[in-house]
Amino acid sequence: MSSISASSPACALLRQEVLDLHAYHVPDSSGYIKLDAMENPYLLPPALRGEIAEAVASAAINRYPDPGAASLKEKIRSLTGLPQGMDVLLGNGSDELIQLLAMAVNKPGATLLSVEPSFVMYRMIATFTGMRYTGVPLVTNSGTEIFSLDLPVTLAAIKRDQPALVFLAYPNNPTGNLFPADAVAQIIEASPGLVVVDEAYYAFASNSFIPQLARYPNLLVMRTFSKLGMAGLRLGFLAGSTAWLEQLEKLRLPYNVGVLPQLVAGKLLEHHEVLLRQAEQIKLDRTKLYSQLGEIAAVRVYPSEANFLLFRVANATAVFEGLKQRGVLIKNLSGGHPMLNDCLRVTVGMHAENEKFMAALRETITQLA
Ligand SMILES: *Cc1c(COP(=O)(O)O)cnc(C)c1O
Repeated sequence: MSSISASSPACALLRQEVLDLHAYHVPDSSGYIKLDAMENPYLLPPALRGEIAEAVASAAINRYPDPGAASLKEKIRSLTGLPQGMDVLLGNGSDELIQLLAMAVNKPGATLLSVEPSFVMYRMIATFTGMRYTGVPLVTNSGTEIFSLDLPVTLAAIKRDQPALVFLAYPNNPTGNLFPADAVAQIIEASPGLVVVDEAYYAFASNSFIPQLARYPNLLVMRTFSKLGMAGLRLGFLAGSTAWLEQLEKLRLPYNVGVLPQLVAGKLLEHHEVLLRQAEQIKLDRTKLYSQLGEIAAVRVYPSEANFLLFRVANATAVFEGLKQRGVLIKNLSGGHPMLNDCLRVTVGMHAENEKFMAALRETITQLA
């Protein structure tokens, strides 16, 4: 690390993995059309905002939150239609739940397995907690050009490394595709440890593993409300059998979900249909954006069941900068995983934002040609 010399106390004190890490970088987005972080672009209806304001005004923020979050959990249980014998555990975002799971199973030598490219926090949290990590590469077959699960290789890695914990993002981030359900089922069946199906994008996808929870004793389903319009609240949950959740609950910090997130998320979930309607609009706009991107010869766009689209261009960094100069911020994935060379990821925004993005993209590509 440039700021720490070999003789500094930090160097002697800190774990080498920590010294080697780069902090998760979040760019300054002020003033941009913000299509970089899979946020829901829509505001809430004024009446609902008023209702929230009123509830917040009388919230007991001088008190610690309800540690069991009973009312909020009840709403989540009924909305998700959990099978019998299942419960939920709440996290300060699902990132916190990934960390909690890693801490729970991290016996000496334990392995966390995922596929790559996928959500970077799986690998990062393995590093934070000192777990071994296996990243099984996805495959792009030139026929369909999607980032497919390599099932034989994944099953072989599971057999070899006996992972205590497997994460599968369903749909996958940053590729956007939904892995075939039967392949995911085979991974669950072959895994000696816990398999977490991460459904961060459930509101935009055509399938869920929640109905399968009762079938597989080693399955947990993780969801977040971040992509559905509550990114600022930080609320995720893990759904699974009470037998697992009772154990994991011991590791949860007692007040991890504050008074205001509990209150506001509770209100929003009473109006879940408002958020789901917004998600439906985002899905329609995703279809439109997909075909618009597909019409540009210099762009290869990948199918998505999430609220973003992954696409490839000739020079992603130049395109990213060109978009930025035109006031549009998306995510440049180039320079990360080799399979994502020259890939960019755009969040589906409001209609007008998507149009501005498309105009800026056409201009940029014409200018670079
Ligand atoms: C965004 C995302 C998360 C993290 O969600 P938070 O609840 O905001 O921490 C988890 N998994 C995947 C696959 C994501 O894309």
